[in-house]
Amino acid sequence: MENWLKDNECTGCGACQNICPKEAIQMVTDECGFWHPRIIKDKCIDCKQCEKVCPIVKPAFSNRFSSSPEVYAGWSLNADTRYNSTSGGIFSELALKILEMGGAVSGAVYSETFLVYHQVIFKETDLTNIRQSKYIQSDSGYVFREIKTVLAEGKTVLFCGTPCQVAGLNTYLGKDYENLITVDFICRGANSPKAYRKWLDMLEKQYHSEVTRVWFKNKELGWNRFSTRVDFKNGKIYRKDRYTDLFMRGYLEKNWYIRPCCGDCKFKAVPRVADLTLADFWKVDKALDEDKGTSMIMVNTQRGTFLLESIKDNIYLQRRDLDEVLNGNQMLNKSAWISKWSGYFLRSLDYKRFDKAFYHLELKLKFLGWKYKWKKYYGNKRSKNS
Ligand SMILES: Cc1cc2nc3c(=O)[nH]c(=O)nc-3n(C[C@H](O)[C@H](O)[C@H](O)COP(=O)(O)OP(=O)(O)OC[C@H]3O[C@@H](n4cnc5c(N)ncnc54)[C@H](O)[C@@H]3O)c2cc1C
Repeated sequence: MENWLKDNECTGCGACQNICPKEAIQMVTDECGFWHPRIIKDKCIDCKQCEKVCPIVKPAFSNRFSSSPEVYAGWSLNADTRYNSTSGGIFSELALKILEMGGAVSGAVYSETFLVYHQVIFKETDLTNIRQSKYIQSDSGYVFREIKTVLAEGKTVLFCGTPCQVAGLNTYLGKDYENLITVDFICRGANSPKAYRKWLDMLEKQYHSEVTRVWFKNKELGWNRFSTRVDFKNGKIYRKDRYTDLFMRGYLEKNWYIRPCCGDCKFKAVPRVADLTLADFWKVDKALDEDKGTSMIMVNTQRGTFLLESIKDNIYLQRRDLDEVLNGNQMLNKSAWISKWSGYFLRSLDYKRFDKAFYHLELKLKFLGWKYKWKKYYGNKRSKNS
């Protein structure tokens, strides 16, 4: 069968690859580094399972998810967990509870080359790998199949991913499993693994050493600084904040490598697609936060209520208003804009180093801006004189 979805609509969630009974779908990267399903025609039996589980073609919303969810600000009372998490460490507390109960947790981990993929873990000692936001798209691989197997064994599974990954898991499973709890987050968009790997290649050249650790939103300089820390084999450390780190500037300021479909995300606002939604609780009272990281927790289902209730001795929790989240976190309702120079930038990484490509495009856009203003100014002057 032909591809059922336009490339710029596909989220790369991998539900189609997971469902295919003939292994006729492979996720391959395009020239910008984003994964897309490719059908191996010789193997395809035209069963259309892939189309049926695509969360874009067939969004699986259910009335299980509240349209007026309860909202909280909170953090882990374990100082280590909070410090080592991206916001308040609520995800780790939820995950710990599930693992203590003998369940499994699935989330994003770094590979040996510091790319990101989804994994299922069963042990508390593996939790540190899953913790922390990795601001690039995670490869789902065949994790949905693995989760289905664990669910069928009767174990509880906690899955955390982007809203589109959660939606993909839901449509792939095709039915509601009582022993599945899903967590999504307010998402600004998934970045191209190609852009991120090229940025790491640049750092490895600059520091004459291999990367040993990547840590986004590192809190050494305070949570609000949004710092990035990268450690190297030779003991050196790279540390910059959101205004000076080129990767974060390209993500938050220029929007040069967010996946195209994230510009029109189908999983914004409420109701959500997951039992719980996490995010940073920005603009929370200064007295409350102390720059250590505060999570926003949105409880979308009864299952979410039970799980949050079960960790309440291990977290600080304060009831807040949904409007506060809407005011402080635009990405709950709005998709990120995608720069029209995104493809140009990503392709230029084939022959330019990350920083060279970055500064080159920045200069080009400045020049085009001046040219536009100059044309407008002289155009106006000429029309006044004539
Ligand atoms: C790509 C991306 C964009 C985000 N955009 C926003 C935003 O605009 N506004 C906002 O308030 N919050 C955003 N977040 C969420 C935020 O960074 C925190 O993850 C969230 O507040 C939970 O924090 P925590 O301390 O409880 O848990 P953390 O320790 O941060 O745990 C995060 C969980 O997210 C999973 N995860 C990490 N990276 C990925 C990934 N690449 N793909 C899928 N799952 C992943 C981990 O497996 C873990 O389960 C984003 C996260 C990501 C990964």
